[in-house]
Amino acid sequence: MNVSSLVAFSVLRLQLSISTLHCLFASIFSKVCNWTIRAYRGTPSPVSPQKLDQKRIQNAMTPTSVNYHFTRQCNYKCGFCFHTAKTSFVLPLEEAKRGLKLLKDSGMEKINFSGGEPFLHDKGEFLGKLVQYCKQDLQLPSVSIVSNGSMIKEKWFKKYGDYLDILAISCDSFDDATNQLIGRTQGKKSHVDNLNKICNWCQQYRVAFKINSVINTFNVDEDMVEHIVTLNPVRWKVFQCLLIDGENAGEEALREAERFIISDKQFQEFLDRHSSVPCLVPESNEKMRNSYLILDEFMRFLDCRDGRKDPSKSILDVGVKEAISFSGFDET
Ligand code: SF4
Repeated sequence: MNVSSLVAFSVLRLQLSISTLHCLFASIFSKVCNWTIRAYRGTPSPVSPQKLDQKRIQNAMTPTSVNYHFTRQCNYKCGFCFHTAKTSFVLPLEEAKRGLKLLKDSGMEKINFSGGEPFLHDKGEFLGKLVQYCKQDLQLPSVSIVSNGSMIKEKWFKKYGDYLDILAISCDSFDDATNQLIGRTQGKKSHVDNLNKICNWCQQYRVAFKINSVINTFNVDEDMVEHIVTLNPVRWKVFQCLLIDGENAGEEALREAERFIISDKQFQEFLDRHSSVPCLVPESNEKMRNSYLILDEFMRFLDCRDGRKDPSKSILDVGVKEAISFSGFDET
């Protein structure tokens, strides 16, 4: 070994020793800190189940963004529908407003009205009054609707357009034959023509226009880039078709969606084919199950974590915090 190698070797050994000492000190320091913190906190005392319940309610998440499915009735028959017409119940208008006020008082900032088809009940008047109430009285920063678009008339925009921030229309295909196969249609009316009409009204009445698509067996190979770019929505939300026990799967369900289901790989291929569309926002099954705060027609939160929709008690009976603590909502 020559002199320069010897020097380099000694420097390396010195560096290694310093680094080892550094790790040793860091480890000792961290242990001492932990002992000190534990000693300071003391040994945790057993907590009664009642106190745990109270704590859970106190820690319940703030319902910043809520999807209120106020009706399950719909004029379409999409084969994969995940919110089916199991009841025909709709709350009286004043009760729905009371619930919305409770939500606002608990921190709600965004409300989305959905269904079923929200424009079906009372020819869109019930929906219009709730939209107006949320914007004018509750002053919510964001009021939106998800609709299949088939029941919307221009006079609704004239009357209520000022109170609506966003309108999302569901469209799974730009080929009407495919829409017929899916059930996303009523009679022989063209779903695509309707979509174009509503897109124009949204521009005219200054409502942000969005499109939601459910990717399933029948549209998974379609290329929608050109149509989406032409319509130019502010957002195109693309969902992977999802099975929900009791809604579109299982013995009590009103739909059998198994034949619509695609694999994660197929969903990814669809996303890759449309990666040039800047407004595309993908929603995987996992995200759909956990990240939506869903309120049903009785104003009960629905917990979708176990692949079905388990309802909480109604916020009208027990308040928002108690109901939400059982909803399984994942804020992230
Ligand atoms: S439009 Fe289709 S998916 Fe939406 S509520 Fe109606 S049947 Fe269900």
